[in-house]
Amino acid sequence: MGRSREPGSSDALRHSRLVGNTDSFALSTDLVCAYFDASFGDKLSLVTRALTQILDVVLPTSCIFCESLGSHQCAACEQRYQPTPQWVERQNLVGLCATDLTSGASILLRAAKDQGRTALIARMAHDVSHALDLAAANEEQERLLDALRQRDTHLVPIPISAEASLIRGFDVVSSLTRKMSGQLGLQTHRGLRLVRQPKDQRRLGVQDRFSNLQEAMGYRSVDSISRTVVLVDDVVTTGATLLEAARAVNATGDIVAGFITFAQTRRVLDAKNLK
Ligand SMILES: [Zn+2]
Repeated sequence: MGRSREPGSSDALRHSRLVGNTDSFALSTDLVCAYFDASFGDKLSLVTRALTQILDVVLPTSCIFCESLGSHQCAACEQRYQPTPQWVERQNLVGLCATDLTSGASILLRAAKDQGRTALIARMAHDVSHALDLAAANEEQERLLDALRQRDTHLVPIPISAEASLIRGFDVVSSLTRKMSGQLGLQTHRGLRLVRQPKDQRRLGVQDRFSNLQEAMGYRSVDSISRTVVLVDDVVTTGATLLEAARAVNATGDIVAGFITFAQTRRVLDAKNLK
């Protein structure tokens, strides 16, 4: 393969052209400037960083439903996931979510969790942000929308268990929280942690889910001032997790205005599942 080289073009010039061509890859000129100043070891790590950014963009994306190449949801599969932004309520907590946990939303979430594809997280955040356009029908809902408009509100992700993070190696809730924070111009505060390891919620009935999580979380407040926080999780089911998180936060003087999740499921709220 013949590589044409324009006469008189210096390496630096060719570099600047490369950067010009790859604006869409979010490659900053800083990275290239740093490259010329860097030691060999640093050069290697800078190149690795640049390559990772490029690969993330140029590797062919496949449809999460039919695996055809092109985008993460191809035109033929458009109907398989259609978000339905909505208000959610669990006891005294009010929230917003992008969609019911339909089979399509489930496939999207699974793909994001298992592969950590940034485009999928961005899609989830984008769909959640549409829920913020919903009108408030009561005071609690108004309070949540208000909180999401205030610059000093902090988004607090629900922590995943150490076990889950080992298995998956990727925390979709943290990632979604960072994306949402970026979109809304808010701060992320990872103040929640598990103080003991609860059993796997999925195997439990509604009542057991609540007792399983009682006092399971601890919270470190943002700072010495009482702050408004909004909790973030991927899916809300019974609300046991979010309510326990809210208890832990409120106990410190920070105030939970509500929550946002990607999806909600009402499945286990069905009478047949009640113990
Ligand atoms: Zn498809």
